[in-house]
Amino acid sequence: MGDYELFDITIIGGGTTGLFATYYASMRNMKVKLLESQSQFGGKVMQFFPEKLIYDVGGYPDILGEDLVEQMISQANRHQPVMLTNRWIETIEKESDHFILYTSNGERHATKAILLATGSGTFHTKTPDNWDTLPFPEFRKRVATNLMNQDKYHNKNVVITANNKVGMGWALHLKETAKSVTIVNPDPKFHQVKEEDLNRLLNSSVQVYLESNITDIDVKENQLQSVAIHKKEQETITVKTDELLTYNGLELQATPLDNWDVATYKGRISVEGDMATNTPGIFAAGDIVQYEGKTNLIASGYSEAITAINKAHLFIDPRATEQLYSTVLYR
Ligand SMILES: Cc1cc2nc3c(=O)[nH]c(=O)nc-3n(C[C@H](O)[C@H](O)[C@H](O)COP(=O)(O)OP(=O)(O)OC[C@H]3O[C@@H](n4cnc5c(N)ncnc54)[C@H](O)[C@@H]3O)c2cc1C
Repeated sequence: MGDYELFDITIIGGGTTGLFATYYASMRNMKVKLLESQSQFGGKVMQFFPEKLIYDVGGYPDILGEDLVEQMISQANRHQPVMLTNRWIETIEKESDHFILYTSNGERHATKAILLATGSGTFHTKTPDNWDTLPFPEFRKRVATNLMNQDKYHNKNVVITANNKVGMGWALHLKETAKSVTIVNPDPKFHQVKEEDLNRLLNSSVQVYLESNITDIDVKENQLQSVAIHKKEQETITVKTDELLTYNGLELQATPLDNWDVATYKGRISVEGDMATNTPGIFAAGDIVQYEGKTNLIASGYSEAITAINKAHLFIDPRATEQLYSTVLYR
């Protein structure tokens, strides 16, 4: 899909800021492309809290993280912009009157203006140390690393492998609706947990295995059947399992801002009220920017995205209006 077709604006990063910017730019009749490095849109919301209720986004008294992202994808798609996943942007080059973006797999994307909505980078989930020694590699790639689509755990035998408060939180949450929940922790204790949560776990129906590893999995016709759990110096046991989740923490792959010719301060892009970077034609919004009074919230990203897109529009067409009302536009 990478090619020399010239877009008005290319948005790097498909978190909540980039998704909203995609909608807004296409509402402003710009030719828009969104490039996201992960296999899914939603950024931090999907990586950290898809299962949590968010209370501070205007218009929703409360909304699940994954539901907010679903609504945002649907809104972004209203004018069918180009929205691509699995694209990690490595290099930005200026060529006469436009930019060329290069992805890590060698694609090139041509654009008149750029919006950087990259947050601090992208987060990859770490897998347990022995993960690669387990069979069924294709199945392992699909093992859940977050608590999306919670309905699928209803009345199921669930096994979680985790050594931290996230996995413990999932176990406490899922025990209410799952048939059974087992948590397997390779370490002698859970990290970063409150004592009251640990006591709740130990006094609950959740089966807890410490200093234990999953040493085998059995999959038939794409459906998990069981996992083998080995505890140091003890016999290996087999546990009937319908669903497996794993959480071993996240690793940040930082956005290569140093290569992008934008001024930064403490790892963030310095902008003024117009969301312009020091390079004409490159704008930024969301968690990646820094200015006095900046807040790192979903709603702040929306407002910054509007400003950035309106300014980018003026950059490529100085006759464009500063802003538009959607109520007037869609009359
Ligand atoms: C635990 C936690 C709880 C939170 N709770 C709330 C809350 O209750 N309310 C609230 O308003 N905010 C909350 N926040 C903050 C909120 O999540 C962020 O402000 C918001 O998600 C920022 O969105 P963003 O799109 O700017 O950045 P991100 O969500 O970080 O998205 C950036 C995207 O860019 C992609 N990307 C990065 N570099 C590249 C590259 N080189 N090429 C291609 N793609 C790239 C990433 O993969 C990612 O998808 C919370 C944050 C955390 C961590």
